[in-house]
Order: sequence, then C-alpha cells, then structure tokens
Amino acid sequence: NASKTKHEAYTIYDPAIDVYDPQRLSLMAELRLAIATDQLQLHYQPRIDFRKRSLVGVEALVRWQHPKRGLIPPDEFIPAAEKTGLIDELTLWVLRTAMFQGKHWEAQGLMLEIAVNISTRSLHEMFLVSSVRELLQQTAFAPERLILEVTESTIMLDPVNAMRELEAVHKLGVQLAIDDFGIGYSSLAYLRQLPVRHLKIDKSFIIDMRDPKNGAIVRGTVELGHSLGLSVTAEGVEDKTNYTSLKLLGCDQAQGYYISRPLPVSAFNDWLSKSRWKAKTARAM
Ligand code: C2E
Ligand code: MG
Ligand code: MG
Ligand code: MG
Repeated sequence: NASKTKHEAYTIYDPAIDVYDPQRLSLMAELRLAIATDQLQLHYQPRIDFRKRSLVGVEALVRWQHPKRGLIPPDEFIPAAEKTGLIDELTLWVLRTAMFQGKHWEAQGLMLEIAVNISTRSLHEMFLVSSVRELLQQTAFAPERLILEVTESTIMLDPVNAMRELEAVHKLGVQLAIDDFGIGYSSLAYLRQLPVRHLKIDKSFIIDMRDPKNGAIVRGTVELGHSLGLSVTAEGVEDKTNYTSLKLLGCDQAQGYYISRPLPVSAFNDWLSKSRWKAKTARAM
C-alpha cells in the first residue's frame, strides 16, 4: 500500500487496533459522519497558576455524543482515528471549534489560553503549520494564547521532522507544551533544542504522589523544567494534599479534578462565575 505511512510501516499486528476490523470500520464511518454533523463536543478543563492564584487557560478535550452509545471518551476513538487518517479532520475540527470558543470568551472579556492536543499523525503528516496559520486568520484568535500539546513519543517518532514542524508553529507565535511528560522516552538533547514553553507532568505520577518514588520524579521534573527555562504544569491534581505539595515544590500550574473536571461551555461558565479562581479579563490586560 503506497499510501502507508512511516509509522504504520513499523506496526506489529494488534487486533485491538486492526484497521480492517468490521466493527471499527463502522465506528470510523460513524465518526466521519459525526464530525460533519456536530456530534463531537469539546469539554474544557481549567488550568490555574499557583503563585498568581488565577485561571490561566483551558485544555480542550474532545468527546463524542453518539446517538445510540452516549458520550464516548476520546481514548475509545482517537487511536482508531489515528489509524484510519480521520484524525486530521478531527484535529482541524477541534482547533477551529476551540479557537472560535476562545473568541467567544474574549467577547465576554475573558482572555484564556487554549490548549489543543495534537496527535502523532497530525504533527507528522497533516499540513499542520498551514492549517494553524489559516485558522488563526479565520478566527482572529491571538496565536500566543494558543497552545499545542504534543507527547514525547510523538516527537521521538521522528525528531528531525518534529523539530521542523514545531519550529514553524512556534514562528506563528503559538506556544508548545510537552504532554504526559515522564511516561514516554525522550532525549533531553532534543527537548533542549525544541521551542517548547511548558512541561506537563503525566497524571500517573501526580495522582500517586504519596508514593516516595513518584514524589521524587515529580520533584526532579519540576527542577529539570525550571533549569531548562520551562513552565511546569501538573495534571491529575485530584485533591488538596496533591495541590499543596505541588505548590510547595514550586510547580507553576495545575490542572485536575481538585480544580475542576473538564466541562462543556455552559457548565464551565457557571463554574467560573462561582469559582475562587479569577481569570484574566480584557480590562486587566
Ligand atoms: P491528555 O491530553 O493528557 O488529557 C488529560 C486527561 O486527563 C483528560 O482525559 C482529563 O479528563 C483527564 N484528567 C484531568 N484531570 C484529572 C484528574 O484529576 N484525575 C484523573 N484521573 N484524570 C484527569 P480525557 O478527556 O479522557 O482525554 C484522554 C486523552 O485523549 C487526552 O490526554 C489526549 O491524549 C486525548 N485527547 C483528548 N482530546 C483530544 C483531541 O481533541 N485530540 C487528540 N489528538 N487527542 C485528544
Ligand atoms: Mg493534553
Ligand atoms: Mg496528559
Ligand atoms: Mg495523553
């Protein structure tokens, strides 16, 4: 198959991600329709700054409101979408929807950063740079408030290409974050060269931070991030104890159920109006 992609060529057969699995095929046919008919939704999870005690931004997380199956979480369709190439359409939909939502919040005076997850395939094979440039023009969303999140494994699949793409995205003024840091393998030599602003420590270390080994990893990652000049975010901050320990460690920002679960827009607006976290407003700019 000539259209076979670089990373597919290395794939070992795994029935769980069989592209030709009839059930998966129909799910992907349905997903194609879902993108076209607005069955996808974004939920937004707040990210706060420890020192400023403020809401900095949100991460856009996709969900599929399936007419029969109900709300499907991303882990159940993103991997298959990656395999079949539908991920590019999905990524574009997410970027566009999140940036327009950012403009809506702006119209209400709310200046939020918006983070979007970029899958491996979309970084390496989509026309990501030109798509992002076009969407920035279409939506008039400020590039410096857009954050693209990529994982270590996405980068390490093809570090040279990743470097080129991320450099080009960075030139548009967009920020970059390394997501799920600590569970993939990555080379510090590459990390140092990438135009990245944020490290997001994987939630598995944070949720179980009381385990001394996880605690040591978290402490080490905060120090590593700071010595590379990066801002460090903890994800999976589920309770007050986590929150307080991370603050004491000098971690910069936090995301997690302790602050809020990911929420649809209206619930997010309600949460914010009642929350102790205050967002940056247009007047305060
Ligand atoms: P991620 O980017 O690392 O997103 C964080 C995940 O952790 C989210 O799961 C979020 O709901 C969950 N989470 C946040 N706080 C806590 C907490 O305190 N405790 C626990 N246990 N979990 C917490 P979600 O929304 O199910 O997304 C899972 C993954 O799916 C994401 O991980 C991301 O890799 C992927 N994903 C989500 N939306 C998109 C998208 O639009 N495009 C792409 N390519 N991937 C997406
Ligand atoms: Mg993420
Ligand atoms: Mg993550
Ligand atoms: Mg992830």
